[in-house]
Amino acid sequence: MREPLLMTPGPTGVDERVRQAAARPMTVPELDPEFPGFYRRLTGRVQELMETKADCLILDGEAIMGLEAAVAALVEPGDKVLVLANGVFGHGFADFVEMYQGIPVKLVKDYRHPFAADDLKKVLDQEPELKVCVLVHCETPSGLLNPIGELLPVLKEAGLLTIVDAVSSLGAHPVKCDQWGIDICLGGSQKCLSAPPGLTLLCISTAAWQAMAGRRAPIPGYYLNLSLWRRTYLEKGEFPYTPPVSSLHGLEAALELLFEEGLEIAIDRQRVLGEAVRATLREAGLEVYPVPGAEANSVTAVEIPRGIDDRAFRHRLWEEKRVMIAGSYGPLAGRVWRLGHMGYNAEPSRIFRTFLAMDTCLKEMGWKGKPLAPIWAGKMGGR
Ligand SMILES: *Cc1c(COP(=O)(O)O)cnc(C)c1O
Repeated sequence: MREPLLMTPGPTGVDERVRQAAARPMTVPELDPEFPGFYRRLTGRVQELMETKADCLILDGEAIMGLEAAVAALVEPGDKVLVLANGVFGHGFADFVEMYQGIPVKLVKDYRHPFAADDLKKVLDQEPELKVCVLVHCETPSGLLNPIGELLPVLKEAGLLTIVDAVSSLGAHPVKCDQWGIDICLGGSQKCLSAPPGLTLLCISTAAWQAMAGRRAPIPGYYLNLSLWRRTYLEKGEFPYTPPVSSLHGLEAALELLFEEGLEIAIDRQRVLGEAVRATLREAGLEVYPVPGAEANSVTAVEIPRGIDDRAFRHRLWEEKRVMIAGSYGPLAGRVWRLGHMGYNAEPSRIFRTFLAMDTCLKEMGWKGKPLAPIWAGKMGGR
């Protein structure tokens, strides 16, 4: 049996060096004199990744936890929050806002189209009391990339605090937190960084800390309370509770691999291979889900060809070829497949094997389309 291949948009495959690192001997963070420096170096790497000088933290909890913590920190009861909703995660943000008794003001677009700066101007004029905007960089369930570099300056101009979900773009697309004015940016360990799942990476701007300090009522809760980290780790160098040692060791190795390659080169690799994946699918007559120009380089959503059963196909691909691709959820369940070509997965032979396996299984299931023959479409740029 061939080695299993997880071509999913997270968790991705994990490099051997990362797995070995996560198996390193245990330590006691509270007592080990090396540990604070290790954690500080790691958050320094997160600053490089997010292009920011702001405070960065790595929290023990899947990135969803970070999204909730960010909303809990910046949204108070009655606050109006602009929610840019053109995908599953965008709509999901509105639920978090309501849970913390904020008032979501949703700007809705269909799941194929990215937001543009012009979309924002009207709502910003109509709703002068908006305090925060939450937005998603890459909508993983639909493979859509919102051009946040164009949106953020408009939001900052209007004086809004911004929370960005960059969970499935960080490491595959530039994320320029300081230049663009992101107040809380969220990343996860198991997407484009290809470390095991379970960690939230985030940065918190000075304006976000000030907003937390100036709240009418304290942030509710304990574990999701970001201000706790200010009072402990950032002010006294003490951890508020035990950090997840092995996960952090794994993340350290994953970030070493990324920075050994070079962040820009890794982003370029994912761009080129993303283009190759889309070109291959289109050449075979399949429909890539987002409109051209709005596709993410980390994940491609492609419409399931007519007459092919979603579950039966993916089951066959896994059982016969040991290749795993993802379906989707929300309104896209049963309508698209998703190929995760992020981080560790963005490697030509893995993509090649995926297409050959898909081609064989599609033919066995009676598909009459053109072959899914991998084509090299991209240009390596800038070097
Ligand atoms: C993966 C992901 C998250 C985190 O979701 P999990 O269910 O914890 O994996 C959040 N936002 C986006 C855009 C993601 O792709």
